[in-house]
Amino acid sequence: MTSSPFAIASGPVARRASRSAKIVYGKREIIVGGSAPVVVQSMTNTDTADAIGTAIQIKELARAGSELVRITVNNAEAAAAVPAIREQLDRMDIDVPLVGDFHYNGHTLLKDFPDCARALSKYRINPGNVGQGAKRDTQFAQMIEMACLYDKPVRIGVNWGSLDQALLARIMDENAQRAAPWSAQSVMYEALITSAIENAVRAEELGLAGDKIILSCKVSGVQDLIAVYRELAKRCDYPLHLGLTEAGMGSKGIVASTAALSVLLQEGIGDTIRISLTPEPGGDRCKEVVVGQEILQTMGLRKFTPMVIACPGCGRTTSTVFQQLADDIQTFLRDQMPVWKKQYPGVENMNVAVMGCIVNGPGESKHANIGISLPGTGESPAAPVFIDGAKAMTLRGDNIAEEFHAIVLDYVKANYTPVHGAVS
Ligand code: SF4
Repeated sequence: MTSSPFAIASGPVARRASRSAKIVYGKREIIVGGSAPVVVQSMTNTDTADAIGTAIQIKELARAGSELVRITVNNAEAAAAVPAIREQLDRMDIDVPLVGDFHYNGHTLLKDFPDCARALSKYRINPGNVGQGAKRDTQFAQMIEMACLYDKPVRIGVNWGSLDQALLARIMDENAQRAAPWSAQSVMYEALITSAIENAVRAEELGLAGDKIILSCKVSGVQDLIAVYRELAKRCDYPLHLGLTEAGMGSKGIVASTAALSVLLQEGIGDTIRISLTPEPGGDRCKEVVVGQEILQTMGLRKFTPMVIACPGCGRTTSTVFQQLADDIQTFLRDQMPVWKKQYPGVENMNVAVMGCIVNGPGESKHANIGISLPGTGESPAAPVFIDGAKAMTLRGDNIAEEFHAIVLDYVKANYTPVHGAVS
């Protein structure tokens, strides 16, 4: 066997060329598409009419790193609460742009609640849920008029659970005329893509600028999502919002979202992502932000927070000390990031290794900025610490976790120069 004559390359293919849309709140500008980094966004699950509860959850999502936060605007109470939510966020110094999610009555709410229309930085319109029959076109047009009036970008967000039935019927009729009709699945894909693109073109005809439109076509199957977005990406140059709708709960939701999104992102498709996880009862809504960030960071597309590399553990390390230490450090690093990203620029590039025994511990630790190799079963009760590839010290005793914590903190302070005024 001979080696390859070419150096082995890695990384995604070149990003798909797209227009870019700007979503603005005050001085905060989020660019979706073009050469901008892939944006992570999220959605609240509070009752929007509860302005305080919603503002608190938005704050949590923003602090976790959500760059846009969507809220449902489903009725008059919700629309009336939107300006109060925005004011509450302003008081908390949270400038994350808000996206309003509209269905059925969006045309009325945007007209009747102008302060709501102004407070939102972007509108999401589902063309399958804007009205039936003759009202559909009128109500869609009214929403686009509001977007033009208030100078807001729009996501035309098609969802297979609420596909425009008239359009689906038309595509099915066309299919029936084919000599070899397509499968029901292919017809559904075609209907999703056609709905998104036709409505985007209509929005432009109604006066919305082409750089104020983002598209999505959400489905809940991994292969369906990949097939639909590959084709959608070929047929238009609007920025694309990626997300597996109703991804599910726990590991299933995370794995399904990661499987679908990573294939598309690797192919250069996708300008903003949202991970639609179902939270466990009492679970943390911010998990969807963390998962979105981790997909992008582990793929090497963006950096958000220092990465912790930890071995899975095995029979060589039967205590849970290293698991606790890995968890503790990971939580600590993530919790610091809202402050650290301003105080210690570049800290998100740091890698920390927490390893369970001597087999791979020292080797992996040397590759990290800071690494610790904890003693496995039967090994001498010493934990060598490596800093920038060199053994720096050995920790012993009952306070290894606390001491390692302090070493990580010292490393951050010493290596990521605080900007003027930073508190050490
Ligand atoms: S580093 Fe040691 S404890 Fe961790 S998986 Fe490898 S052999 Fe097991």
